Amino acid sequence: MPTTTNSHPLDWKFLNPSKGLKYLYYQFTISFITSICISTISFKYLYSNFGNSFLCDKYLTYWLVLFSLVKFCDIPLKVKLLLKLVYLSSRIKVDDTRFTIKRLMNLVRSSIFKTFELLNISSYLLLIYGLVRIVSGNTCDENLANPYSTSVKVMMIFIIRLIIGIIVLKFDDNEPVIRGFPEFLYFLQDGAEIEDIENLQEISMNDDFKNQYKNDVCSVCTFEFQEGDVIKVLPCYESHTFHKDCIDRWLIQKDSCPLCGSSIAKKNK
Ligand SMILES: [Zn+2]
Ligand SMILES: [Zn+2]
Repeated sequence: MPTTTNSHPLDWKFLNPSKGLKYLYYQFTISFITSICISTISFKYLYSNFGNSFLCDKYLTYWLVLFSLVKFCDIPLKVKLLLKLVYLSSRIKVDDTRFTIKRLMNLVRSSIFKTFELLNISSYLLLIYGLVRIVSGNTCDENLANPYSTSVKVMMIFIIRLIIGIIVLKFDDNEPVIRGFPEFLYFLQDGAEIEDIENLQEISMNDDFKNQYKNDVCSVCTFEFQEGDVIKVLPCYESHTFHKDCIDRWLIQKDSCPLCGSSIAKKNK
């Protein structure tokens, strides 16, 4: 008889949560400092020059108000996320990887993280608009306050922050995590629940099963199933099968069968 088993713990060797925590920690710290600098510089300028600045270039003044507001609003979010990360880091040695991943999963799926992302996207869009306005140039009466130099300063700080962010991201890339780390975090947002992945039917390929799945191919890695492989059966209508390692990696990123697209969460319940 072939051996079929259920509820196998996931093998998390392909994920590296401590690296993820470190990455998030760097990003939020840099981002936090940037937000403080940007809002301080622009509020200070706007506080004493708003009227004059508005007469000089109302669009760039509006831009400065909006950009600094977005940066100011995300400060409390970053503090909260940083505190959560400090807590997660303190637990990483105590908990096993599974719980750390689960907590990271909850963090990147939380409304506070999503709000942070939304503000981030808004600031990228605003940056593009600001750059366009800066490049098109402006001149105004010398008696008026020109928002040009403050805007350039603020943009430079934000661009430098982006460059540091990219350096942090590329730094220490010897240790492979599934394709680069930020992607891993975003994958966690759409992945299946850990319990659902672990509850999938698992089959060890012995002689009996070798015949049943003889010419079957795992469509994730495109290799045929071999004797000794451990495969997983998804609860789709066609019961699609994949290597355990291949489908675990897939499902942590996406809650659906790679072949037919049906969700494993709904059918598993
Ligand atoms: Zn495979
Ligand atoms: Zn399927």
